Amino acid sequence: MNLEQLVRENVKALSPYSTARDDFKGQADVYLDANESPFETGLNRYPDPKQAYLRTAWANYRRVAPEQVIAGNGSDEIIDLMIRAFCEPGVDSIVVCPPTYSLYGTYAAINGVHVVEVPLLADFAVDVSAMIREEAKLLFLCSPNNPTGTVVPEEDLRIICGGFKGIVVLDEAYVDFSVSGSAASLISEFDNLFIMQTLSKAFGLASIRVGFGLGSAQLIEILDRIKPPYNLNGWSQRVAAQAIEQSGQMESWKEAVLAQREVVASALSGNPMVEEVYPTETNFLLVRFKDASEVYRKLMEAGVVVRDRSNLPGCEGCLRITIGTMEENVKLLETLSNQES
Ligand SMILES: *Cc1c(COP(=O)(O)O)cnc(C)c1O
Repeated sequence: MNLEQLVRENVKALSPYSTARDDFKGQADVYLDANESPFETGLNRYPDPKQAYLRTAWANYRRVAPEQVIAGNGSDEIIDLMIRAFCEPGVDSIVVCPPTYSLYGTYAAINGVHVVEVPLLADFAVDVSAMIREEAKLLFLCSPNNPTGTVVPEEDLRIICGGFKGIVVLDEAYVDFSVSGSAASLISEFDNLFIMQTLSKAFGLASIRVGFGLGSAQLIEILDRIKPPYNLNGWSQRVAAQAIEQSGQMESWKEAVLAQREVVASALSGNPMVEEVYPTETNFLLVRFKDASEVYRKLMEAGVVVRDRSNLPGCEGCLRITIGTMEENVKLLETLSNQES
């Protein structure tokens, strides 16, 4: 696939931001090129616009090449970059598969880009044949999906990447919790596959805003043309790289969340107010209640905030409940069992 043909007209003419430091290879002693303060605070220098250290750290972690990685101010910024790189406002469209993460549509709307919906099927499976019929620049898939917890099987992903004429954007925000694993190895096979990942969930770093995009080197170069040069501050780049290099911490948190998820899921399954606890490969449960708004209100009263998803298509009566610490989960379950009267 010729990605350059899909690029927005104004972006075709751009090239990535470059600094004097890009011209200088090696370790300089004296930096008098950027009007920074010379006084050492640990934060007085501009951060690396190429995010070289961080991209390499993530590339090693995901077993891809550094040229196949970009970092954003959260994966939310990556969504925005993809739309702005490829979609002409008022002309082009993206495909989304509701019920799913709402920010794909939000960023499309901000950029004046049309949104075409291909809803999930009754069992929350993706409608493969319907989506490959769509003519759009980008197709957003989320696996495991927020809020349904479901995974797009690799066979389906292959058919979609092979059949869709634009770029398939696969959001793997919850992949660290999944048993199915990442599709990252497929980016070398399909040049129209782009994968988003984040440090906001399993890595416990939502506050520093670091997300990643994985794709062919050509695709990453296109995004580098429109990326704000200093989109990711130096502090975040450093904290992120350290967390990746010490991913054992994430692994142990993940094990704790998965163990607690089983406790919460089985308690909820036995609760008479619950109609269904959906299977999940994430750190949350989608739960269908007999009276979701009453449950939501009672939880709020007890100071327990969950996400009401009952207005989404296919999620009638559903609340999305994140797995917390053991103490938090006990509070949730106690509040729910005190409710029957
Ligand atoms: C939480 C979440 C993200 C993370 O976004 P960041 O901007 O990286 O914090 C991305 N996609 C989905 C589906 C999510 O649920």
